[in-house]
Amino acid sequence: MTATEQNHAPGWYAILPPPAPARRLTGDEVADWVVVGGGVTGLAAARRLGELLPDKRIVLIEEFRIGYGSSGRNAGFIIDTPHLTEQFDHATNLRISCLVLAGLAELELQVRENQIDCEWTPHGHLTAVVDASRVGGLHATVAMLESLGETYEWLEGDALADVIGTRHYHAAVLTPRTVTINPAAMCRGLGQSLPENVDVFEETCVRRITSGRSRSVVCDDGRIDTPNVLLTTNAFITRLGLLKGEVFPMIACASLSRPLNDEEDAAMTGHRDWGITGTATMRRTRSNRILARFGTYYAGDFRLGARRHQSLLATHRKGVTDRFPVLANLDFEHTWAGVFCMTRDWATHFGRLEPGLFVSLGYCGVGLARGTISGKLVAEHALGGESSLIDDAAALSGPARLPAQPFLALGVEARLASYRWQSRREW
Ligand SMILES: Cc1cc2nc3c(=O)[nH]c(=O)nc-3n(C[C@H](O)[C@H](O)[C@H](O)COP(=O)(O)OP(=O)(O)OC[C@H]3O[C@@H](n4cnc5c(N)ncnc54)[C@H](O)[C@@H]3O)c2cc1C
Repeated sequence: MTATEQNHAPGWYAILPPPAPARRLTGDEVADWVVVGGGVTGLAAARRLGELLPDKRIVLIEEFRIGYGSSGRNAGFIIDTPHLTEQFDHATNLRISCLVLAGLAELELQVRENQIDCEWTPHGHLTAVVDASRVGGLHATVAMLESLGETYEWLEGDALADVIGTRHYHAAVLTPRTVTINPAAMCRGLGQSLPENVDVFEETCVRRITSGRSRSVVCDDGRIDTPNVLLTTNAFITRLGLLKGEVFPMIACASLSRPLNDEEDAAMTGHRDWGITGTATMRRTRSNRILARFGTYYAGDFRLGARRHQSLLATHRKGVTDRFPVLANLDFEHTWAGVFCMTRDWATHFGRLEPGLFVSLGYCGVGLARGTISGKLVAEHALGGESSLIDDAAALSGPARLPAQPFLALGVEARLASYRWQSRREW
């Protein structure tokens, strides 16, 4: 694991109080289940296994700290509608819709029951375009929402400026149920409220998983013998030698500002908090900070490259100032990158890989709701559960084989270059 993407704490994590010291795995242990990966998927899976198997020992292992990985590195939109709609047919969008709604409901339940303080803000989100020639994409979103019977609002001109306080955007579609959060705070709270029979080891990297009826999950300073392993490791699964031909890592980047001062606050028009997605993502958060997310890169080796990383802050700052000249002096305190797991055809990986080895990953950049519900469902599925939601998750699983290198890298770079050209006026 390298540098650029994980050694800089995400802003969401950096603004929280420091966590208690990590409990690391040292020595040999046994468990009934080991979940590898403490993002939203692993947290939901470990919780569900703990609930369904109250007399068994469940272990959750995380390489860094809970909330430090991509689940705490994202833009913090718990999106409740299908994404990338033009890629999918109606039946697929319907399945995704059922899953993300269930994921949002699950997160809402956990946040409420466990009183997790994570800036939970149910203000919906705006899918917006800057460039009028790209409005066709919004019409596709509207068509999908109508086909699913979803509520939405079309905003442009004064109506849009009244919400966000800028005329930078041409038009937007508001979907009202999306919730925004501080994702690192939410993950930390989820980790602290797991059932008692779930043991969490952090700062513990799984290096190898042996095969056979009883497996060993081998870490640097210890190992756990277990009959059942569930991998919720995002694209990092390829480092364990698995699914190399089916998933690959992409990197996305974000910056978080300090809170607006009184002068900036007074100069900003629009609502107190809002969230916009599109080619570029921007939020005014409940704690009165600006979040900017822009820049998506192919990262076959999980690295971003120092030059690119350095230019991000300037790019994010420019995007904010273009929209809000009154924020020209706003300092951005944190800039970071995170990995998300891509597949060739936007399919996920859900279910059993081998006897005793299960997996859930591959949400192609939108995983807070989807990862949460998939983690819960894969735990139920592994224990023999059946439900229409499990059927939905299973039906969306099974990505197509990737081309071998260098064709994969060339193909992805070409797609990204074409996307950047088409959306060049969006930042
Ligand atoms: C900048 C950015 C913005 C994004 N914005 C959004 C958004 O607004 N909304 C949204 O829904 N999604 C968003 N995403 C995507 C979202 O963050 C991911 O889809 C989601 O976090 C996936 O969750 P996960 O649990 O599958 O993986 P992760 O959160 O990556 O969790 C996997 C965990 O496994 C750990 N791990 C990996 N290998 C090992 C190992 N060998 N041993 C031990 N631990 C290991 C990692 O450290 C990591 O913590 C964004 C992503 C990025 C990078």
